[in-house]
Parts: sequence; C-alpha cells; structure tokens
Amino acid sequence: MTDTHPEIRPLDESTVQRIAAGEVVERPASVVKELIENSLDAGASRIDVTVDRGGKNGIRVSDDGRGIPESELSRAVAEHATSKISGIDDLEAGVGSLGFRGEALSTIGAVSRLTIRSRPQGGTAGTELTVDGGTMGDPQPAGCPEGTTVEVEDLFFNTPARKKFLKRDSTEFDHINTVVSQYALANPEVAVSLTHNERELFATEGSGSLRSAVLAVYGREVAESMLEIEYSTEEDAPVDSISGLISHPETTRSTRAYLATFVNSRYVTAASLRGAVVDGYGGQLAPDRYPFAVLFVDVPPESVDVNVHPRKTEVRFDDEGGVTDLISEAVERTLVDGGLIRSGAPRG
Ligand code: ADP
Ligand code: MG
Repeated sequence: MTDTHPEIRPLDESTVQRIAAGEVVERPASVVKELIENSLDAGASRIDVTVDRGGKNGIRVSDDGRGIPESELSRAVAEHATSKISGIDDLEAGVGSLGFRGEALSTIGAVSRLTIRSRPQGGTAGTELTVDGGTMGDPQPAGCPEGTTVEVEDLFFNTPARKKFLKRDSTEFDHINTVVSQYALANPEVAVSLTHNERELFATEGSGSLRSAVLAVYGREVAESMLEIEYSTEEDAPVDSISGLISHPETTRSTRAYLATFVNSRYVTAASLRGAVVDGYGGQLAPDRYPFAVLFVDVPPESVDVNVHPRKTEVRFDDEGGVTDLISEAVERTLVDGGLIRSGAPRG
C-alpha cells in the first residue's frame, strides 16, 4: 500500500456535543421528558407543559420546584454537571433521582436555543440564562415566580439531518402527549397540565389520587373501568410490590401506548414489561387490542440497572423472568378477584 494513512484528528468540541446530543434528544418528546424529570427532581407540586406545533415551534416547561440560585445557573447548563450524584458509587447504590447524568440541559442547549429562568424558593429575585446552539450567554436578572421555567426554541436548527427526521406535528405531539400523560399518572400528587397550540389537553389536580389523574388524562370511561392492583410478594422475591390500575379486558386500544409501566417510579418502555401485563389477561383481549395500565413495579434498587441507555427508558433486571412472571401473576390475580376472568385461564 502506497497510500498514506488518513490523518487522525480529534473532533472539535461542538461536533462532539452535537453527536452526543443525538443520543439523548431524539425528538421534541425527549426534550419534554428530560425537562419534566428535572421538575420532578426539584420537588415541584405543579408542572405546566406548553408546546407549539408538536414541539417544533417551541417547548416550555414551568415548575414551582426548588429553583436554581443565580450562582448555580451556569453550572446547570454546563456539560456533565449535576447536583444529584457525586460519583459512580452513588450510581451503584441506586439512584433516587430521575436525572443523574448531568447532560440533559447542556445537550438540549447544544441543538436549540434554550432559555432557563429560575428563582429559588424564598429567593428575592430571578435569573435568566440563554444557550444558543451550545454558546452560553451571561446570566441576567429576570422577573419570575419561584421555581424554574425552561423554554426550548428552534430545536435541531443546527443539526439539519436530525431535523429532517421529525415527523408531522400531530405525530410529534402524540409522542409528547404520551410522555406527559405518563408522568402525570406516575405522580398524581403533582398537578400536571399539557397545552398544545394554545389548547389545554388535560390538567391533573395533583390531589394524590391515581384514579382522578386517570380521569383527567384518559377520561371518564377509562377511569371507571380501571381495577386497582395491589400485590405484595414474599421476601427475597425479585419484586417487592406491584400496584396501580389496570383496565377491564374490554376497555382497550389498538396500541400498546397506554400500557404505562414504572420501575421504582421511573417510566420504562421495556417491551418485556408490557408483554407481561398483556400475558396476565390470559387471552381475554381481542386480537391486537391492548389494555390501559398504570403499573408501579418496585424492585430492590440493587437488582436493576437503569444506566443501560442515555434515554433511560430501558432497564436491565438481575432476574428478568422472575420480574415478568410476577407482573403477569399480579395482573391475573386482580382480574380473577374482580370476577373478570376465571383462574387458570391460559396465558398469552
Ligand atoms: P441531571 O438532571 O442529570 O442532573 P440536567 O442537565 O438535566 O442534569 O440538569 C443539571 C442540573 O440543573 C440538575 O442537577 C439540577 O441541579 C439543575 N436543574 C435542572 N432543571 C431544574 C429544575 N427544573 N429545577 C431545579 N433545578 C434544576
Ligand atoms: Mg435532568
């Protein structure tokens, strides 16, 4: 070979940032998810999500959480900076917060024009900071209530390839709706609202009642058909408890999107968990129909790895088969006790 080897060069900072951003921020709904998680981690009791044109024209998430002091605001949007863990040991021990990578705000800011406005609880003044395609401005004083508001505009303006892959407004909005609904259901003690193109889709009251959150999000018919599931396991089982609401076998939809499963309060989309719920219905569902479920599965923190993927919607269990069997069993028990299926009906 006479060719000279092509020179190996380090990528410049902004290229690295944009490539990394693609892993966390796939579409507007991923931005919404990260911002809601931050609001929940900040102890918010109210979260308002406002989006325009499927989030392509703008995303705003406002909370009444603990807020960020002026001196910390630049750090909040800096790369790999987090107030939630201090090292890998914390991660191994199991994370109590939804965030921990310290990369959401910096990566979103790398591929959009992001404004964060915050006033700490009890603070006398607010501060605002903008990040424009990865370039951070200076913090400025801003009038705002206690809590934090993040606005994201022109998402993917500097990553045209990614922007091209965005779907129609209505499709992008469906993804946002799914995310916001799921967090609203997972946190009935928080008042969550969703507004699209100036129309409010739903607002939960934040009373703590799961059924009332289901009523706000899915409407009366679904809320009334939901059965309570409450299942505790024996000591040393791979699952500590399973609780939540599941629908009557005849209250179904043609998509799995309404099967919301949460592991230790974290929303996960693992197909295995959704499959386990469906299995529990034991053939009572019409073909290609899926029930509604809001299912909280609590497992010992050290038996689950949430660090599998940057988007954090997938998890790995030490004993996946054990976990899914118990979920199917809990669902079946609930339907049997509710008189909706006979015990021992074949599963699957
Ligand atoms: P992570 O959530 O993984 O820590 P982020 O980039 O999402 O990383 O946020 C960085 C930091 O900014 C957080 O650790 C937190 O201290 C602060 N922060 C972000 N959003 C909020 C919010 N809504 N309220 C209060 N603090 C926030
Ligand atoms: Mg975060």
